[in-house]
Amino acid sequence: MSSRHIVWSAICALVLVAASARSEIDGKALANEADGHNWPSYGRTYSEQHSSPLAMVNRDNVGRLGLSWSLDLGHVQNGATVPLAVDGILYFTVGQSLVHAVDARSGKLLWRHDPEVAKVAGRKLRYTWGPRGIAYWQGRVFVGTTDGRLIALSAKTGHQVWSVQTTDKNNELTITGPPRVFGGRVIIGNAGSEWGPNRGYVTAYDTATGRQLWRFYTVPGNPADGFESDAMAMAAKTWTGEWWKIGGGGTVWNAITYDPELDRIYIGVGNGAPWNRKVRSPLGGDNLFLCAIVALDAATGRYVWHYQTTPGESWDFVSAMDITLATVPVDGVPHKVILHAPKNGFFYVLDRYTGKVLSAEKLGKVTWAERVDLTTGRPVEAANARYPDGVVTQWPSSIGVHNWQPMSFNQWTGLVYVPTIEMAGTFDDRGIDKEHFVFKKTELNTGLVLSSGDAPKDAGTSALVAWDPVTQKPRWTVPTPGVWNGGTMTTAGGLVFQGQADGRFNAYDALTGKQLWTQDVGIGISGAPITYTVGGHQYVTVVAGWGAAGPAYLGSLAAQHGWVARRQTHQLLTFVLDGHAPMPKQPSPEQAIPLDEPTLAIDPMRAKAGEAIYATRCLACHGLGVVAAGFAPDLRASAVAMSATSFAGVVRGGALELNNMPKFDELSVEDVESLRLYIRARARATLSVH
Ligand code: CA
Repeated sequence: MSSRHIVWSAICALVLVAASARSEIDGKALANEADGHNWPSYGRTYSEQHSSPLAMVNRDNVGRLGLSWSLDLGHVQNGATVPLAVDGILYFTVGQSLVHAVDARSGKLLWRHDPEVAKVAGRKLRYTWGPRGIAYWQGRVFVGTTDGRLIALSAKTGHQVWSVQTTDKNNELTITGPPRVFGGRVIIGNAGSEWGPNRGYVTAYDTATGRQLWRFYTVPGNPADGFESDAMAMAAKTWTGEWWKIGGGGTVWNAITYDPELDRIYIGVGNGAPWNRKVRSPLGGDNLFLCAIVALDAATGRYVWHYQTTPGESWDFVSAMDITLATVPVDGVPHKVILHAPKNGFFYVLDRYTGKVLSAEKLGKVTWAERVDLTTGRPVEAANARYPDGVVTQWPSSIGVHNWQPMSFNQWTGLVYVPTIEMAGTFDDRGIDKEHFVFKKTELNTGLVLSSGDAPKDAGTSALVAWDPVTQKPRWTVPTPGVWNGGTMTTAGGLVFQGQADGRFNAYDALTGKQLWTQDVGIGISGAPITYTVGGHQYVTVVAGWGAAGPAYLGSLAAQHGWVARRQTHQLLTFVLDGHAPMPKQPSPEQAIPLDEPTLAIDPMRAKAGEAIYATRCLACHGLGVVAAGFAPDLRASAVAMSATSFAGVVRGGALELNNMPKFDELSVEDVESLRLYIRARARATLSVH
């Protein structure tokens, strides 16, 4: 036998091993906590722990981690995403549902599917920026779109297998969250409680055909039309006035967890529409199932139990954050629980069978409530929390102590690694016509007071917190730069990985919080990393990209890191021990440089009118006070906003619609010019400061 033949035989044997290891992802694979070969769903397994049993990369050797390869994803906007890894192939979505398949060993792009969202989304383009994840089930990849489609793709080719419309084409509901799969079913929620008279719901479809199996609404409709379920009849008793005219809200835009043991689905329900209960439900009431976890029978979608973290919510304190399944000691006995850290700032441990709250403590600075009464399960609210007599500043803000960025639970340390934020919110509803409220479409809310200029740099902070769910206390805390940070991932190698706003990707000792490894990736990270094996090596992959709802609307607080739209590109980065590929070159961070035309006279009254238009239509992407944070262009520095004609062509005419800039054709020529004058005034104000 020639040496060449021996080499060839060895290669064939390796291929055979790889082929036999090829596992189709099904319910068994998604329930398997012990096999770290793949990362086949958003939170890796059904438990949504964002945790891996792999330990080839560990506390002792993580310092040797280096780049294996990178793939430039271009200027895709929204890089806030969690990839999947299935048998050596990475699948992920960035931007407006651009789904990619990439060879995990080489970084070679295998296919890319573009559902052409900007062509069909119309007004829905105004509300969101594409989803944060996808699902995989038996050779198919599932993704939601801003325009409300749920699409099944062939994992092999990227070709569309089926597509269903899960939201009304004419309302404001979009999709921002990842679908989940279980037992041949795929379930998806929607997003957009703030934007109009909407009712949230989740829908389960057959993975093979896209046929609708069941739908569960989260808030009741008009009683005169009859209720869809007993659960809706029960929920309606907690609402007052004519809430159905305003819609109620309650979108399920992020957390959906399947419990294979109980064959249940847990959904995390969002805020009310509008935020202010005095408008939505004038005589009070808990307003079920806003800001609650609801347990449903997975086969039928029937209600099982609920736990409401923020009854009668009025601050956007959604419960759409991770619903993590874990087994932790309660009074010394292992107990099957849900771990949940919603925006309202408390960390909850719930009994998984009954939904009863077992413990709840403050995860960060919280002043809207004193504590959670474990007997009633309800928060004890501060006296002025509902801004009864004018302006109230309290913690947390509507960004929350914890937002959608995934937390991770490490069963070997028993700790939960939570990306946290500390920032105050100011609420005031004086001057709002609560009796005759109408949604002005992109009206953000009715309570939050937004600043109109640069926010002070110390207006908020962020930290990575290692939380002990048994003692309900932090074990360690590491401050992170700025006011927004990335999702976390943890491993049996005793590590926690997290990306930061300043473009650093870090690994910490999961027990102590000591930083063991860091890499400058040249752009902020807002998604969460994953880990998996290919060919006997453990890899760590993250999408480096700055851009998500949170950072966009934080304005100058998020812009301080210097990520500028169309300057830095998004990158898919894969690391391995002793990897030595060079980091992709990125332009260095810089602040947007405003433009001014000194001879232009700016009528302050018109600029003021323009500010009001900006707040309801532009702020969510272009940033508070016209300070963008690297997601959409900073309009102070935009040549388009220097010319009345060009500006009107984009804003009214939709000239950049295919670049995901929606058109606002309901605005008059005068409105658009007022808006432009506000932008010009902000640019001039910035220049005069510097
Ligand atoms: Ca919200």
